[in-house]
Amino acid sequence: MRTATWGESMNRNVRLLRLPRLCNEPIDGFMDKAEKAVMMAAAAKKLEELFDVLQIDHKNDHNMRDTPRRVAKMFVEEVLHGRYSEPPAITEFENVDRYDQLIVTGPIEVRSMCAHHLMPIVGEAYIGILPSPDGKIIGLSKYDRIVDYFSSRLQIQEELVSQIGNYIMDMTKPRGLGIRISAVHMCKTHRGVRASGASRMVNSAFYGDMLSSPELKNEFVQECLSLERHVR
Ligand SMILES: [Zn+2]
Repeated sequence: MRTATWGESMNRNVRLLRLPRLCNEPIDGFMDKAEKAVMMAAAAKKLEELFDVLQIDHKNDHNMRDTPRRVAKMFVEEVLHGRYSEPPAITEFENVDRYDQLIVTGPIEVRSMCAHHLMPIVGEAYIGILPSPDGKIIGLSKYDRIVDYFSSRLQIQEELVSQIGNYIMDMTKPRGLGIRISAVHMCKTHRGVRASGASRMVNSAFYGDMLSSPELKNEFVQECLSLERHVR
């Protein structure tokens, strides 16, 4: 019987680790450093094969020599880390003053990658929270971490806003919530129709009292627009 090559046993190890999940879902459980190293090594091997197919001499090209390893590391530790790592810890504070008016935070940088073409999605998120007077509030920086976590997956913008919104609703139970993302999709600017970099996609998701109140939605959008003016 033939013994498995290093590459084959590596592939098997990665396969045995977890079942595959949708591109923007977390895998079952989270990976530690050693498991990530196994995945990165297996992914680097596959990238070498991809470059072979594309007839790129990655072994001798001084620019490409370490590219398979670099790209594998980038996928596992950065671009897709929101599938393999635990969500950010959320520190809650008592809402001592029973504050229940709209809070809007943003712009929060969105750096993601489109699930259809593996091209960058770059933009800004705005989050509007209507705290529950007898609920909890969380530190503002946590919203940035939550956006980064869900952006670090292969995404489409429609599902990204919902994932961020559902998570904040589940974890903090505000009486209302609005998420708005405005982003440039490089699959539209760098290929296909080659749209200008000014071409953006904007979408929102609303929950609770913000979903049912046109006034609150409008107040949120106006705040987003005034925050956006500080960006451009
Ligand atoms: Zn795309």
